[in-house]
Amino acid sequence: MAQFTRFAGLSMLGLMLGSAALAQGYPERQITMVVPFSAGGPTDTVARLVAEKMSESLGQQIIVENVGGAGGTLGAGRVASAEADGYTVLLHHIGMATSATLYRSLAYDTLNAFDYVGLVTEVPMTLVARKDFEPADMAAFVSYVKENADSITLANAGIGAASHLCGMLFMQALDAPIVTVPYKGTGPAMTDLLGGQVDIMCDQTTNTSEQVRGGTIKAYAVTTPERLEIFPDLPTVAEAGLPGMEVAIWHGIYAPKGTPPEAIEKLSAALQAALADEGVAAKMADLGTAPSPAEDATPQALQAKLESEIDRWKPVIEAAGVYAD
Ligand code: ASP
Repeated sequence: MAQFTRFAGLSMLGLMLGSAALAQGYPERQITMVVPFSAGGPTDTVARLVAEKMSESLGQQIIVENVGGAGGTLGAGRVASAEADGYTVLLHHIGMATSATLYRSLAYDTLNAFDYVGLVTEVPMTLVARKDFEPADMAAFVSYVKENADSITLANAGIGAASHLCGMLFMQALDAPIVTVPYKGTGPAMTDLLGGQVDIMCDQTTNTSEQVRGGTIKAYAVTTPERLEIFPDLPTVAEAGLPGMEVAIWHGIYAPKGTPPEAIEKLSAALQAALADEGVAAKMADLGTAPSPAEDATPQALQAKLESEIDRWKPVIEAAGVYAD
């Protein structure tokens, strides 16, 4: 027994030294950042923006891999079971918290399967529609949707996605069950909205701002407590009488549980440097959002956010009684 303990202790020490040695030269090769939604969507846009700058300070390229499906839980599951060596990370949003309740049999344990790198940004959402959708403003939109709920289609990125959450809050506020059409991300959903195959969507400004500006889709309201600088004419949901729809889509970067702390530290420092970059801030401002402050781009802040958001959304989802399985 004593021998076994000594042996186990020695091999444990070996493992620890090994991982420290591995992490010291970290990163020595390309890093994969998994985005749990399609390319060209809002989460993908945020990921590519920070990945490019993080690559510069890490001295190694971060490539973005899109693993869409099941409202972001497929991609998160991929990272949960990836090697914990710092070479696979996940950029996910609020869906990490909501899916913990929406899915009763997830392939991973949300609070125990990941290490935390830091928060990235909080993105507002917009209620949008195909450009020839009849209602002219938010008041008309609300009554039109109430009256025609059974013939309107609402796009989302699957159960657990931010677009699903926002759509759910909208349906609850109006007490109108709208037919939903799930995609692997709101990138392809936007393509269908532009083509007129679906009617409405609630999506992040990181996906909608250019289309709204270009007049290729219609926007009705923003989900923030204040109006947005980029869309001063759009009312907030509270102004439109739907205060329960206020929601901001916080994004964070995670790594598989057991990733060497040295790698986490370097990833966090690279994230903070990316968020302090003026070019990144300017691009985010153009997309209606802003970088998280440096003190939030830390493992502690992301962990606290995830825990509090799971607690915040659990009763809302349970009251709605909507589950993915
Ligand atoms: N962020 C979008 C959503 O949650 C999905 C995506 O990024 O494509 O609906």
